[in-house]
Amino acid sequence: MRDPTAFLGEEYRDLVRQDLDWRLRVLGGPSTPWCVVDGKKVLMFCSNNYLGLSGHPRLKAAALEAVKTHGVGSGSVRPIAGNMDLHVELEARLAKFKGADASLVYQTGFAANSGLIPQLAGKGDLIVSDELNHGSIIDGVRLSQAERRVYKHGDAEDLSRVLDEAERESPQFRRILIITDGVFSMDGDIAPLDRVAALGSEHGAMVYVDDAHGEGVLGEGGRGIVSHFKLTRDKVQVEMGTFSKAFGVVGGHISGSRDLVNFAYNKSRTWLLSGSHPPAVAAACIAAIDVLESEPEHVKRLWENTRYFKKAMADLGFDIGKSETPITPVMVGESSKAKKLSSKLFEAGVFALPIVYPMVAQGKARIRTIMNAALSKEDLDFAISAFEVAGRELDVISKIAP
Ligand code: PMP
Repeated sequence: MRDPTAFLGEEYRDLVRQDLDWRLRVLGGPSTPWCVVDGKKVLMFCSNNYLGLSGHPRLKAAALEAVKTHGVGSGSVRPIAGNMDLHVELEARLAKFKGADASLVYQTGFAANSGLIPQLAGKGDLIVSDELNHGSIIDGVRLSQAERRVYKHGDAEDLSRVLDEAERESPQFRRILIITDGVFSMDGDIAPLDRVAALGSEHGAMVYVDDAHGEGVLGEGGRGIVSHFKLTRDKVQVEMGTFSKAFGVVGGHISGSRDLVNFAYNKSRTWLLSGSHPPAVAAACIAAIDVLESEPEHVKRLWENTRYFKKAMADLGFDIGKSETPITPVMVGESSKAKKLSSKLFEAGVFALPIVYPMVAQGKARIRTIMNAALSKEDLDFAISAFEVAGRELDVISKIAP
């Protein structure tokens, strides 16, 4: 008889043959600028911990205190018996930070997108999505019964075309939902949210932005992309984000009107049917908001480091793409070369992962670096010279340095 699990090994081995399997590295300790990866001391250059908050003393103290006062688990889903005072406080603090009427915290950003999007648009509705949106948005859209259309990446004119066409062909769409990432994680470019929001208003569509990589980075004091473009909440009705990146902890969230939040928690199955955060997580997230509000130096340092690194890399002749944010891709081209460059950097003491096909198009492989506010100038110089040596060895640098 045929083994019903045979496909598991077969498909895995197929991935290995194509060199498409994930070989997991092990972080032996905290995610700090210098950290231990696979037993080797290296400079962290690819974490989403933009501001270094995952090791901030105020976040650690808040988490420890919450364990003492509230235990390690919440005991339930939030609608039954797992809605702790810390969860409620976190949502109130987040809404204030974002300048929104209300916020709702999900277990992860993935749970927010995959739980809320299918509720916002269903049968008879239309979802219009940027072609490079994050996988959690794509899954949320797939779970919806709405018709979906994709517009060219970051292209407001193409979005306008898609909306015009949709209205001409199907004037009966009940609702239209436009969804875009705020900052695109592969290239570090920023969505033209001002123009997307204007088109939303023009077409009576709801606008949903996933600001996972913009929070703690863009806008006043790291308030995110809505603040960056100085947009009002009647134009961007759903601002989604995560505590797992610049905030240094874990957890997804949405901010907007009170009606949005009441609707979202009554309808999102990922929220209703999954256990709530441990109290230490909620307390650490509250402390992260405290730090962002009272210690503006972290966001400032992040941008100083970003400018320093981008300039040095461009001066050396690296192609660093069109990023406008602390995500700086170092374009390489061939997947095998990007992998070699990453290995050489690792040997030299810099941990930066290659992004290769099928995550990006063929011939667009790159090393994706993510800047961190906790890196010193010496750390940056160390990384830049490691890039220079490895880049010359592999012929990735396009011109002779001045
Ligand atoms: N959206 C975007 C744009 C992301 O980059 C990520 C994380 N990779 C998520 C959503 C999911 O967030 P989380 O890690 O909180 O699940």
